[in-house]
Amino acid sequence: MNYMTRAILPVPAVKDAVPPEVQRAFRTLIQWVGEDPDREGLADTPARAARAWLEYCSGYQEDPGSHLARTFAEVGGYDDIVLLRGIPFQSHCEHHLAPIIGTASIAYLPGTEVVGISKLARVLHGFANRLQIQERLTAQVAQCIWDGLRPRGVAVVIEAQHGCMTARGVKTHGVSMVTSRMLGCFRDDAGSRSEVLALLRG
Ligand SMILES: [Zn+2]
Repeated sequence: MNYMTRAILPVPAVKDAVPPEVQRAFRTLIQWVGEDPDREGLADTPARAARAWLEYCSGYQEDPGSHLARTFAEVGGYDDIVLLRGIPFQSHCEHHLAPIIGTASIAYLPGTEVVGISKLARVLHGFANRLQIQERLTAQVAQCIWDGLRPRGVAVVIEAQHGCMTARGVKTHGVSMVTSRMLGCFRDDAGSRSEVLALLRG
């Protein structure tokens, strides 16, 4: 399955010149919040901020599923859960463009193949580097691994703090949101489910 949400072209590179209309948009924003965009310290901010946003949203320029293309069948008889716990990530909420900062734990029960563990983190970042809501991010990571590896089970648990809640609005610090998605045996089999939950808790 292809997880691109739009065509890959044209691909802007972070080093490319920022189009004038994009710089103008950031300039307008700076002015609108009450600043002077011509102040010396802000002179290069529109272009710099635009490049930063291109980096925050670099996931649109990749298909996260492609990281799972190379798998290994040689597992030395290992047929138990593989878990990557506490992978740090950052994303941005699609409602406020505010940062989402957290960690994800990804587990799967292999079918016939396993994948290099760094690839699971790459799948996470491919979806996190987009405008997101945490629920969809969790579901997309789980589904991508399910489709790409054909494992017997997948579990994804994400815990994150949302800038739109901690830095604005109710300004509630220290509150994190937890979402989880279980597929295959982790969803359907009570024994597998409690085993993976115990591993996820550490
Ligand atoms: Zn938000």
